[in-house]
Amino acid sequence: MPLDGATRVRGGIVIVRIRGRALPDGEYVDLYADGDRWTTDPVPGADLVAEGWLLPGLVDAHTHPGAEEPGDPMDEEILRADLHRHVDAGVTMIRSPGLPGEPPEWFGAEPGLPRAVHAGPWIAQHGQFFDGWGRRATHAELPVFAAAQAKRTGWAKIIADWRVGDEPVPSDVMAAVVEAVHAVGGRVAVHSQHAAGGEAAVAAGVDSIEHGMWLDTGFLPEMAAGGTALTPTLSVFRSSLVAAREREDNPWKRWYVGGAEAHPALVVAAAEAGVTILAGTDSRPHGRVGVEIRALAEAGLRPHDALAAGSWAAREYLGLPGLVPGAPADAVVYAEDPRADLEQLEHPVAVVLRGVRVR
Ligand SMILES: [Zn+2]
Repeated sequence: MPLDGATRVRGGIVIVRIRGRALPDGEYVDLYADGDRWTTDPVPGADLVAEGWLLPGLVDAHTHPGAEEPGDPMDEEILRADLHRHVDAGVTMIRSPGLPGEPPEWFGAEPGLPRAVHAGPWIAQHGQFFDGWGRRATHAELPVFAAAQAKRTGWAKIIADWRVGDEPVPSDVMAAVVEAVHAVGGRVAVHSQHAAGGEAAVAAGVDSIEHGMWLDTGFLPEMAAGGTALTPTLSVFRSSLVAAREREDNPWKRWYVGGAEAHPALVVAAAEAGVTILAGTDSRPHGRVGVEIRALAEAGLRPHDALAAGSWAAREYLGLPGLVPGAPADAVVYAEDPRADLEQLEHPVAVVLRGVRVR
């Protein structure tokens, strides 16, 4: 509902205006979308679409849209539906550390769907990862494949470890991957759920560790100093823990249950050590980053920091500024301060993407 008179239209598009307290600082702002850029220069007759508490949108930093089941090929219709769910949930940007296939041209650029960065298909050692998904590489090929991928899309995703008893990617190979990817200006995201894989990833100076289960907390200061982020995907572990506990005792169960039970404390220790935490859902249905943000808070992060992990801090980590003049014109608006009640995340008043109200 336009609150201040006639709606001005530029090129057939309503000029969006939002105002309220912008996080992280809580300062009062009054922003106009000049195309895909926020400006504080008033545009007479712009459409004040929402007032309240403003974020630059939510960010899901670990999501694999486009396929129903592990191993399924990329399906454009599923991809589109998954991305719509993200936007409906207030997500304006995603990172896909691994995709079921090459995404279509419109991925990350389509009006009404989130901005996106991605690492193309996962890169794993032979005999590891989900059958039908990703590429397999020898140790000699890993740095070559990773650099080629990162050169195209900015990111490469390496599976450092997989099942209990599997050999992780050796630390010298991981170091060669990081060197090759950084040499082309890219970044490396690494899947790790075992201590040895995590240790190799930290030593190599990867850009993000995904999951990080069983990560030795002694490495957290090194991660903080080196800028290695952690995407703990807490809510996935939590949701599968009940069933895992009911399985009979075996090495898999001891690994999974032990790691998942220790994970919340690990995440809190990482945050306290100054590691950048990223909210990632890694599961279907899409559009549930709010669940992950609440899981981070329930683990013991301050609500402010849990929200940062799924909004402004993640966005900054991915290279986009927050709600400042000149920034890309994305926002999600809540009626109240979401830090006081993270359930607010389920009820955005408005979602603005590329200067257009999309919800
Ligand atoms: Zn994943």
